[in-house]
Amino acid sequence: MQRTYKFRLYPTKEEQGYIHFALERCRLLYNRLLAERIAAYEQTGQSLTYYEQKATLPERKRYIPELKNVHSQVLQNVVERLDKAYQAFFRRVKNGEKAGFPRFKPESQYNSFTYPQSGFSIEGKQLVLSKIGDVRIRLHRQPQGTIKTCTIMVKNGKYYACFSCEVESKHLPASEKQIGIDLGVSQLAVTSDGERIESPKFLRKSEEKLKRKQRAVSKKKRGSNRRRKAVRNLARLHEKVANQRKDYAHKESRKLINKYGLIAFEDLNIQGMVKNHHLAKSIADSGWNQLIQFVTYKAESAGRQVVQVNPSGTSQRCSNCGEIVKKSLAVRVHQCPCGYVADRDENAAINILKLALQNVS
Ligand SMILES: [Zn+2]
Repeated sequence: MQRTYKFRLYPTKEEQGYIHFALERCRLLYNRLLAERIAAYEQTGQSLTYYEQKATLPERKRYIPELKNVHSQVLQNVVERLDKAYQAFFRRVKNGEKAGFPRFKPESQYNSFTYPQSGFSIEGKQLVLSKIGDVRIRLHRQPQGTIKTCTIMVKNGKYYACFSCEVESKHLPASEKQIGIDLGVSQLAVTSDGERIESPKFLRKSEEKLKRKQRAVSKKKRGSNRRRKAVRNLARLHEKVANQRKDYAHKESRKLINKYGLIAFEDLNIQGMVKNHHLAKSIADSGWNQLIQFVTYKAESAGRQVVQVNPSGTSQRCSNCGEIVKKSLAVRVHQCPCGYVADRDENAAINILKLALQNVS
């Protein structure tokens, strides 16, 4: 199963220079190869093949030394791109579809180059690219499976790396179902299907008990035997509650993984939520991080996809029309002038799913 991941890159000025240099070299090569194919066809009635063109690369490097500053496989991929454009053209012709002949690319239309096998590696927070440098990358999720190719893209002045991965799917049949999940305060989560994942009763009970015991400890005299005993009790209860939470997160994450092919969460590490101290405590208490963590690692072995998105605006935006509908935390219903009415958290969950799907494509 093939899966693509897209990550933002933050190259330095110098690295940007190398990226644009590679782009331009690839573009010129592409146009040159296309011209040669056309000329060959005009002269002999036969175009050049992928292998014939690939074989010319070493000689080109001799005449154009600048080509040596671009990774050799990146250049080979240019030959492959042109070949694919030809194949697609002939396929469309054969199927009687409208087919445009492969075109020369102006600068504005050549915005990526690909490392098809090697020349790149992820090392910590950096993507090490041959002939470019150690480029800072924001890995908002871990690519799963084996990374096959790495494509560097420039779009609207921003830089991206797209990894195409081969994922081995185990046990679970593929699922086309997708779900967005809004993590809540009053309940653990609400899904884009309107389903609620509640904090279970036994857990709430244990948590109440935990609070009582905490108070009990603070009332006992320091250094007393009673206090020591109460502290021990409290520690035991803490452990019990932690285990209950863990079991529960395991169960809920398993349910999600069994059902959905793509699961979208808000990224809890992003701004807003964590800045607010009250909410930050809720995050720590409610087991959200644990739920996301369990879903993420189960997804890996099951061939499912987990995406975390920037939650900013997800509760205010209308999931139906995109309009911003301002509301305080106390307002639990999203009511839009477009006529769409939904539970506040459900609306947010739908927005989270939408954002995730934008990220994946
Ligand atoms: Zn609306």
